[in-house]
Amino acid sequence: MTTTLTQPVRLESELAARIVDGPGGYTGVEAGAEWAAEVRRLVKLRNATILAHNYQLPAIQDIADHVGDSLALARAAAAAPEQTIVFCGVHFMAESAKILSPEKTVLIPDERAGCSLADSITGADLREWKAEHPDAVVVSYVNTTAEVKALTDICCTSSNAVDVVESIDPDREVLFLPDQFLGAHVKRVTGRDNIHIWAGECHVHAGINGDELTAQVEASPDAELFVHPECGCATSALYLAGEGTVPEERVKILSTGGMLDQASQTAAKKVLVATEVGMLYQLRKAAPDVDFQPVNDRAACPYMKMITPAALLRSLAAGADEVHVDAQTAHAARRSVERMIEHGNPGSGE
Ligand code: SF4
Repeated sequence: MTTTLTQPVRLESELAARIVDGPGGYTGVEAGAEWAAEVRRLVKLRNATILAHNYQLPAIQDIADHVGDSLALARAAAAAPEQTIVFCGVHFMAESAKILSPEKTVLIPDERAGCSLADSITGADLREWKAEHPDAVVVSYVNTTAEVKALTDICCTSSNAVDVVESIDPDREVLFLPDQFLGAHVKRVTGRDNIHIWAGECHVHAGINGDELTAQVEASPDAELFVHPECGCATSALYLAGEGTVPEERVKILSTGGMLDQASQTAAKKVLVATEVGMLYQLRKAAPDVDFQPVNDRAACPYMKMITPAALLRSLAAGADEVHVDAQTAHAARRSVERMIEHGNPGSGE
């Protein structure tokens, strides 16, 4: 669906002609000065603001008005004075922005930018799971669709997942979804045995495994480790710390926002980073003297990378793709997100 402008939008013909809709998304436009000028012209014309997730391409991060994690961006969308939000991230994140600011127009440059983790559980799956555990409290990580959030009691981020679960009556069962690695981390820290964990995973994070981490740690014994708790290697990182292979204080299990905070405080010369590789761009900008290296340099999210310079230009010119969440779903989803904010420090999402 598209939204229209009161003023006609003129796309520079050369730029427009280069936008190609290929299998991986919209391509064919160089992110040069001409593109940047056209993007800024359209942003002004549309009274819009551009928000970009930490995993976006560097050119998209550089042109955005705000760069951050999913929760920080949803809050920035709600606080923005502009009426139109152009959300450069994946679809569930744009939905969260819409849930928190229903009166605004939210655009995503390519609505096909999904998320394998959010897609690992549907509303129908969750209804069935709840029916099997009718007294359980449902805790959902923010990487979920609006429909799943609407069926959730409390959302959580990787920063406050432990606090949220600890706030629940120890005698109540907990259904934790959708990420099995974050669920395992929460179960280990809280020591709860009445927590059921959905077997979902992000294919990008799951691909960062313990063997690669061990090899990298052995090659750089003085490096610090920044590990996102959704990573397949989060358990390995804690194990290596327990074994003394890496001193415990050098292993940091952090959300993406937490990684940025830690980057400016670390005394380490080298940091191994276990999350999506787009994060390295922000970390290197935040602490240019630190050598940040990926644990797996192939860990790139193909959905995040669908938000190309061409897709952003198309979005601003055509008012597409608009994100819609029906009022009833948005109301219920908003409640579970607001409860998350009341419990501990939500910090940031992915
Ligand atoms: S990196 Fe994984 S969890 Fe994040 S948006 Fe991509 S598929 Fe989803």
